[in-house]
Amino acid sequence: MLQHLPNTEVELLWGTWFQSKGTSEAYEWFRPKGEQRYWPKFVWKGYIPPKYSFTTWQAILGRLPTRDRLKFLDINRVCPLCNMEPESTSHIFFKCRKSRVTWGKIKAWLGVSRPLTTIQSAIKWMARENFGSAITKRAKWVALAATVSLIWKARNLLVFHSIVFDPNHLVFEIKRVTCTVLYSLYPEDSVVMALGC
Ligand SMILES: [Zn+2]
Repeated sequence: MLQHLPNTEVELLWGTWFQSKGTSEAYEWFRPKGEQRYWPKFVWKGYIPPKYSFTTWQAILGRLPTRDRLKFLDINRVCPLCNMEPESTSHIFFKCRKSRVTWGKIKAWLGVSRPLTTIQSAIKWMARENFGSAITKRAKWVALAATVSLIWKARNLLVFHSIVFDPNHLVFEIKRVTCTVLYSLYPEDSVVMALGC
């Protein structure tokens, strides 16, 4: 049915199908089952903007329409960011050299030295090593969800609108989003002291 359409158009339709589900239907679709029950409390936090929780949750469940999941479509499966390796959730968010540059700068900003390899391992580590001020702790959770979501958003802007993926711009946006959330929770001076934003 879709074979006659250009590749990017097919991919856009597929992406739109995911997004077309309303919040309640999507919730049922993404309802945690089995061991997935561990993750929601770290992803769906009241102070994390829901759109970032939602994309992070889709990524954890492996339900973002990455190109490795579109095997039934005759499309290019290579990661659009690096054009070197097949695109998958684990590749695009952590292994891809373009996203690694982004994580490197965000980690340096938040004082995280540990290598991050998957969203799940990042969550486990952050839950275990939950030290520092309340502002810093919350900043890490917001930044994790914002980084995953904004990498995905930037990937889509590149695929569908040919907008160049720029890690430096992405880092700026992630910091801006994280600082905006924290300014809504804490006095400005405290946020500036803790995060320099
Ligand atoms: Zn890549």
